[in-house]
Amino acid sequence: MDRREPNLSKKWLVTLIVAGLYGLTLWQIAELVQEQTLSEMNINGQRQLNIYVTHLKGQLEKYEFLPELLSTNARLVELLKRPGDRERTEALNRYLETINTIANASDTYLMNREGLTIAASNWQSEKPFIGRNFSFRPYFQQAMQGRLGRYFALGSTSGRRGYYFAYPVRNLEEILGAVVIKVDLTLLEQQWRGRQEEVVVTDPEGVIFITTRPDWRFRSLYLLNETDRQRINQSRRYSGTQVEPLNIRQREELSDKSRLLTLGPMKGKDHLSGEEDYLVQRIPMPEAGWQVHLMTPLKQVQRRIGWSLIITTFAFVALALMILVLQQRYKRRRERTRYEAQANQSLREARDRLEQRVEERTVDLRQEMAERRRMEHALRQTRDELIQAAKLAMLGQMSASISHEINQPLAAIRSYTDNAKKFLQQDRCDDVAWNLEQIAELISGMTQISSQLKLFARKTDGQRSPVLLHNAIEASKRILLPQLSRTGTEVRLQSLSEDIEVMADPVRLEQVLVNLIGNAVNAMEEQTERWVSIGIEPGDDRLRLTIHDNGPGISEEHLKRIFDPFFTTRETGLGLGLSISQHIIESMGGTLMAKNSEQGGALFSLELPLA
Ligand code: ADP
Repeated sequence: MDRREPNLSKKWLVTLIVAGLYGLTLWQIAELVQEQTLSEMNINGQRQLNIYVTHLKGQLEKYEFLPELLSTNARLVELLKRPGDRERTEALNRYLETINTIANASDTYLMNREGLTIAASNWQSEKPFIGRNFSFRPYFQQAMQGRLGRYFALGSTSGRRGYYFAYPVRNLEEILGAVVIKVDLTLLEQQWRGRQEEVVVTDPEGVIFITTRPDWRFRSLYLLNETDRQRINQSRRYSGTQVEPLNIRQREELSDKSRLLTLGPMKGKDHLSGEEDYLVQRIPMPEAGWQVHLMTPLKQVQRRIGWSLIITTFAFVALALMILVLQQRYKRRRERTRYEAQANQSLREARDRLEQRVEERTVDLRQEMAERRRMEHALRQTRDELIQAAKLAMLGQMSASISHEINQPLAAIRSYTDNAKKFLQQDRCDDVAWNLEQIAELISGMTQISSQLKLFARKTDGQRSPVLLHNAIEASKRILLPQLSRTGTEVRLQSLSEDIEVMADPVRLEQVLVNLIGNAVNAMEEQTERWVSIGIEPGDDRLRLTIHDNGPGISEEHLKRIFDPFFTTRETGLGLGLSISQHIIESMGGTLMAKNSEQGGALFSLELPLA
């Protein structure tokens, strides 16, 4: 909530500012376009207006000098001098008709001093001017004052609008009457019609008499008061037509030559409903006392303003969309970078965690490894001790035979000693010496046995070195000598070259050989003929040694289990000899296997790497 609220008000503020900017821009653009279009219209209008005025002037100038020219004609003077002459009148009528046709004027006629028409080009028409008095017309009065009379009016007879030029007809200095040419301006009006802008010509009173809008005809472009209206109606210029002002709703002066005008619908002409705005420009035509107006509808301005507002709105919307898209893109990019930063951060964290875990695990592993090493060391020590214990146990088992073997020479030494004593008393020195020699020999034999046993009992760590096989077998035989001799067992050793060396721990190898030969001796207890045959088959890098006895062999059932620890069939046995021997041989890189020989008896084969 707390985070969203300022966001919301910020959004509102932005919307408000954008809306304000939009409104301001629209207003400014509308102003600018209006100003621009108006100024363009002003320039164009002025040009246009000049063309219209020139055209109008040209049309009138064509006729301006015609009355003066006619006034010099003798026939006119003659008829004025002697009016009533039928022949002269008819001749003049024809003449005026011809002139009128050639000049393409509306009417041409001659008036006498009293304003009575005495000859006219329309003498043959339904409503001829002849006999009618137009003395009330200002053009007549102007001509009678000796100058060119000009006037615009609605024809009282024809009901047609016309411009009148009148010129005095003189006899010497005396003014006898006036000759008049009426120009029909309807044609001009028709030529101007069908354009966007309206053309309006007003008389000095501001009454419209030429216009491209027929419904504006004889209306005032200005507001009229009662006196104005009376004066206009008295002049009979518009033959009794009631002059009313246009329905002017609003006006604004831009300069003395142009203004803005809003016209409402005409009274009684509701079909032209709705207001219309115009730019009104004017140029005076002082010769005729007219004002020529060009009224350009402002629809064009409004249309242009409308279009520019639409375009501005489009531009605004496009701009807003563009800003939105850019903002969106910016936001997305910012989010992406934030996301990437987050992803990087979590990656880093994950990596750190992993590293930490690896480190912890490494420490664990190190501890584990140290523990294992400790355990392995302990195991090795235990094994070594077990091997040593088994060896000592084996020695213990052999102790009876050994003590027997020692007791014998001891007894012999005793009897040699007794003999020596006797011979010493008899002074038989040579015999004494012989007996002592025998004693010394026996002692050296015992010493040999004891040192052999001492060597055998030594605890070793299983380190391998090249060992002469021949020596190992001989040492084993010596250790077993008391047993072999007690049981009368023969050891048959194949001829063996004395320099064959195997890689082994010498003491442990002897331990294995003593165990295997000892087992054979034990197994042959019941046999009458006892022998153990040791065979040797040297290979490329290994050597096979077989120990074959003359015993009963091993039953199939036992054969599977003899290498198991604590498996024994002997009453005094421990069942460790073979399992430890196998372990010793395997730790030296060799193998120890057992089977029954085809000739009977058990056959142990032992393989060892050659040195
Ligand atoms: P132990 O000698 O203490 O019995 P061993 O592991 O040395 O233990 O021998 C296990 C068993 O293997 C013996 O009890 C015996 O039954 C059998 N065995 C070993 N050597 C022979 C052999 N040469 N002939 C027959 N049986 C044997």
